[in-house]
Parts: sequence; structure tokens; C-alpha cells
Amino acid sequence: MTAGIGTVIDAVYVVAILVFILGLKAMSSPETARRGIVYAGAAMLAAVVVTFFSPGLSNFLLIAIGVFVGGGIGWYWARVVRMTAMPQMVAIFNGMGGGAAAAIAAVVLLSPASNAADAGLSVAGAIIGSTSIAGSIIAFLKLQGWLPGKPIVLPARQGINLAVLVIGVGFGVYSVLRGDLAFLLPFFVLLLLYGILLTLPIGGADMPVIISLFNALTGIAVALDGFALVNGPLGDAGYAMVIAGVLVGAAGSLLTVLMARAMNRSIGNVVFGAFGATEETGVELHGSLKPIEVADAAVMMEYANQVLIAPGYGMAVAQAQQRVKELTDVLTAKGVAVKFAIHPVAGRMPGHMNVLLAEAGIDYDRLLDRDEANPEFAHTDVVLVIGANDVVNPAARRVGSPLQGMPILDVDQAKNVIVIKRGQGKGFAGIENDLFYKDNCRMLYGDAQQVVGKLVQALKHS
Ligand code: NDP
Repeated sequence: MTAGIGTVIDAVYVVAILVFILGLKAMSSPETARRGIVYAGAAMLAAVVVTFFSPGLSNFLLIAIGVFVGGGIGWYWARVVRMTAMPQMVAIFNGMGGGAAAAIAAVVLLSPASNAADAGLSVAGAIIGSTSIAGSIIAFLKLQGWLPGKPIVLPARQGINLAVLVIGVGFGVYSVLRGDLAFLLPFFVLLLLYGILLTLPIGGADMPVIISLFNALTGIAVALDGFALVNGPLGDAGYAMVIAGVLVGAAGSLLTVLMARAMNRSIGNVVFGAFGATEETGVELHGSLKPIEVADAAVMMEYANQVLIAPGYGMAVAQAQQRVKELTDVLTAKGVAVKFAIHPVAGRMPGHMNVLLAEAGIDYDRLLDRDEANPEFAHTDVVLVIGANDVVNPAARRVGSPLQGMPILDVDQAKNVIVIKRGQGKGFAGIENDLFYKDNCRMLYGDAQQVVGKLVQALKHS
């Protein structure tokens, strides 16, 4: 009977693993991403449910309470979260995975039955999981605005960080070798501290890289824990964890590399460089801010051969994507070619702009990535920047700027640039934008949803 249940459970794990892979594949395109998330979520649900039937599982009530409380909080939070607060929610949920991995590692380490190999794997899982949860909490606080977004740099931080890491790992290894569990508490405390110290100096525009890195680390920690569980009573669940963890670790690592490449920085430079910690001094902006009225902006766009739209975080704040779709339709009906220039770190999460534009039903064919868009700007009559700032800031070309070296959308090369934003607010990196002062740039002030709505009306009635 037990063997029969075991076979069914194994079969469900195998199916769940296959569906994870299918889900991940579907997530690689905005058109199928929603389906991919449903697949992966359903597979995870099935894996969790069958685990309840594992022979030898005890503490049903405690586990059920944990699942309902945790699941309930996650469900409620995900339902009420504003689109603009999504990145910090993702950061914290992701960190929870690292925390769970660290907790599982602690259970294995505290179990008298665990062997040396499992203990070693658990120490590694605990190191990575603890760093990931503590770092993700700091990333959450920064994105939420409860901690300054700028790098917080302690004196001699590299030495302090290294000392905390080495002493922390030393406690863990000593604890396992000597079988003395008293050292586990300082081990975990120091590794949590390491995650905090590692993330505090990361600021400005580098957050996308660190969020993806913690995502990858969480996956790796879960996979290591899975290996440690394979020999225990829940061995088959261990295999499912290994594969789920490896998938998350691999996808997260790839995303980290892509995000670092988007910033034109090495991962080491992002993590250890405290880039942007020093203020740039002696920079004088030439020119003035030149406002434009909706009616004039509409005329410029109507007579353009091509309008390239560069969306950014402000479009997400304003939830302007539906109006942007209407603007695209009305301009297209008038014979104007409309395309979108998408910067990989525009918004506050990877793919943020793609998700919003896909949600509004804007054709994927219209979307150009940065490398495709940059050669187009010089031949474009009008670029409409909607709530983007850092990703179009030519200061990135200046040595010493906090954005130095970040490849931007070269919108300043276009014949005319119209920027929609509410006022003088700075971007995420907190620096002035040279673009707004250039001769070919006009400022169209107001909330993006309202302003784009007015542009649509003006174009419809012209
Ligand atoms: P920015 O954050 O640089 O700028 C957004 C601009 O939008 C602001 O200048 C603001 O100006 C304007 N804005 C805000 N609300 C509105 C509104 N309702 N209507 C119109 N405009 C509005 O955005 P970008 O997309 O250019 O750059 C993204 C930044 O975030 C980069 O530095 C990136 O590194 C960072 N980041 C990205 C992550 C990712 O994964 N994509 C994750 C974490 C950080 P005003 O207040 O005057 O309106």
C-alpha cells in the first residue's frame, strides 16, 4: 500500500518537474508568460499537495497552518499590490525562498540523524539562503523607499564584510565538524548580517542586478537543501526541490548576467563596487527646460514620419499603458509609424515595460530592444519619452557620473524629443538629466495617463 502511494507521489513529482520546465519555457515570451506562470504555479501546488501523503510525514497540523498562513498572506498581498510596488514584493517573496532554504538547512543540521555530507550541503544551503533573505529584505526596504536608494557605505566595508563572512562560515563548519550545535546560532546571525552588509552599498541603478542575483542564490540554496533531503524520509520531495531549485538558479543566473550586461558592468563591480556612492561635483547643465502644450505636441507627432516611444517607470506609476495603446492606434490610423524603444532596466523589474505593453494589447512586433532602437533615433522625427528618466539620461556617457557606462537609449539623437513627466522629479539614480535641457527637447508636464489621454483626444479631433 505504502509502495503504491510512493509510486503515485513519484509520478506526480515527475509530471510537476516537466510542467515546471514547460512553464519556464512559456515565460520566455510576453505572449505566453501568463500561461507559463499558471503552469508553474499548478505544478508547485500539485507537488506540495502530494507531499502531504508522503509516508512518514508528521506534524500535519503545523505544516497545514504554515501553508495556510503563508499562502494566505502571499495571496492577499499579490491581489492588493499596486503595479508599482510589484518589484519590492517580488524581492521579498524571493527572499522568503532563501529564508525557507536556510530554515530547512537548520532543521537538517539540528537533526541527530544527518550525516556529514548532508550537513555539508546544509551549511552551504544555509550560507546562501541566509544571505539571500537578509539581502532581499534590504533590497525591499530600498525599493519601498524606507531606506535611502543611494549606496550606504561603511568605512572599511570590504574588510568588515569579509571578516563577517569568514567568521560566520567558520562557525558553521566548526559546528558540523565538532557536532557542537551551540555554534549554529552565531553562524546564522553572522550570515544574515553578511546579507545586510552586502546589499547596503548597492544603490542607484544597480538594483536590478542584485535582485536577480538573490533570485539565483535562492534557487541554488533550495537545490542544495534538496540534495541534503534526498537521503531522508522525504527523499522524493528532495529530488523535486533539487530540480525546482536548479531551474530557478539557472534562470536567475542568466537574468543576472543579462541585467549586468544591460548596465555594462561586471557582477563583481555591482556587488562590491558601491557604484554611485560618491557625489558627482562640478557639473553644470547648459540650456533650459522648455515646456510644450498638448496641442503642439500632437501636431508634431501627426506630421512625423515615425514616432518612437520610450516608456519608463513613470508609465507604470501612471498606469498609462492603455492610453498609450490608444495613442498608438490613432497615430497609426493617420499613417505615422509607431514603435517602442525598450530599455532592459526601464521600470522597476526586468521586463516591466514589456509586461505593461503586452497587457494593453500592443503588438510585440512594435517593440525594439535597445540595440535595435539606438540606430533608429537619428532618423526619427519625434521621440516621445513617457515617464523615463535614467534610461534616457546622456549623463551615462560622462566620466564620473553615477550612471557612467550604463548603455542608454540614445533618444537625444532624434530630431525632436518630447518628455512627459509631472515636474522636476529625478529618476531612480537621483541625478539630473542632461536630456531635458537640450535644444531639441520639450517638456510636456503632467501625469502620463492624463497627458497621453489628452494627446489622443487632440489627435482624434485634428
Ligand atoms: P526612473 O525611475 O529613472 O524615472 C522615472 C520618471 O518618471 C521620474 O523622473 C518621474 O519624474 C516620472 N514619473 C513618475 N510618476 C509619473 C507619472 N505619474 N506620470 C509621468 N511621469 C512620472 O525610470 P526609468 O524607467 O528611466 O529607469 C529605471 C531605473 O530604475 C533605473 O535606474 C534602473 O536601474 C532602476 N531599477 C530598475 C529595476 C528593473 O529591474 N527594471 C529594478 C530596480 C531599479 P516626475 O516625478 O517629475 O514625474
